[in-house]
This record gives sequence, C-alpha cells and structure tokens, in this order.
Amino acid sequence: MESSNPKVITCKAAIVWKEGEMIKIEEIQVDPPKSNEVRIKMLFASLCHTDILTTNGYPYPLFPRVLGHEGVGMIESVGENVTNLKGDIVMPLYLGECKECPNCKSGRSNLCHKYPLNLSGLMLDGTSRMSIHGGQVLYQICSCATWSEYTVINGNYVIKVDPQKIPLQHASFLCCGFTTGYGATWREVHVEKGSTVAVLGLSSIGLGVSTTY
Ligand SMILES: [Zn+2]
Ligand SMILES: [Zn+2]
Repeated sequence: MESSNPKVITCKAAIVWKEGEMIKIEEIQVDPPKSNEVRIKMLFASLCHTDILTTNGYPYPLFPRVLGHEGVGMIESVGENVTNLKGDIVMPLYLGECKECPNCKSGRSNLCHKYPLNLSGLMLDGTSRMSIHGGQVLYQICSCATWSEYTVINGNYVIKVDPQKIPLQHASFLCCGFTTGYGATWREVHVEKGSTVAVLGLSSIGLGVSTTY
C-alpha cells in the first residue's frame, strides 16, 4: 500500500547486461520515488518486439538495462508532489500527458511536449532509481521498465485502470502493442466499413487492427 516514508526495495528484475546477450533474472534495488514520481508494484507485464530490439542496443546501447514497457501494477508509494495517485491500479506508459500543451489539447496527437518519449534510459532528472550490486546504475527501457517486481516512473506517465472493467492480465497489452494496431487503424488509416483488408500477424498489434472493425 501507499507509504508516506518509502524505503529502498530489493526485488527481482529481468536484465540484459550487454548488447545481444540473453536476459537474466537478477536481484536489484529500487529507490523510493522522488517529487512527481510513483513507485509501482508490478502485477502483470507483457512482451513487445521493441524489448527484443532493445537487447540488441536499440535505440541506444544503454546497459545494463531493465526491460519491459507493457504492464499493469499497483501504486506502492508516491513522491511528495503526487496528490492524485494512492494505491491505484495503473498502467505505466512511455508517452506522458500534461493535458495543457498544443498536442495534448489537439485531440489528434498524444505526443506531449512536456512529457515526451524518453529514450535516455533514466528518469526525467537524468538519474536512475534502479541499481544493482550495491550501486551500479541500471537503465530503464523508455520510462517504464515493467519487467521488474517494482518500478519507478514519473506520475504523469501512468493511467489508472479499473480492475472491474478489464482483466488486468489483458490490460497489459493496452500499453503498446494492442493500441498501436487499434489506433493506427482507427485514427490514421480510416478503413471504410465493408473494406477487405489483410492483417499480417495476429499478436497484439494484429489483434488491435482486427478489433477496430
Ligand atoms: Zn512496444
Ligand atoms: Zn502535453
């Protein structure tokens, strides 16, 4: 549950140490959340092809690195400036939302100017909340690192999930793969009713395309 005085947590995470190496399960340390950040106890996580690309150094070879950018979890603790999240079930996202910038207000794009796709592998202040072997910095993937039992993310990069409305193990796919296929078909391609289309592949992106119509 949400704690007013969170401590460093030792837990397990899936890590890639070097470009092209196999993923290993390691014991890591996860620091308390600062300022506008939240720490999440992960409940479910899923696999996207970008995780595999990342093990090969995409988009930058930042290692050692905790993988995973799809998942669902529960807010375990919050930074001192977070007031809207407490014990909630949430999805960590790699695109934040300020609800104020031109793109957030446009209704046509979610590429927020203030909380953009973060490829640094670090928090927005340029530091990490994850470490191993007594202090070696661990990089995240995007802003998420969901393949850890606990992860820290800026609170503007999470969205609440109602567990009464969706099975949480399925909600995990909504973070990237499913919404990529669904959104591309719904908002970009504008397939007309009655069209015949070919969907190549039926994993999360393909299922997202197929669900649109
Ligand atoms: Zn993905
Ligand atoms: Zn914005």
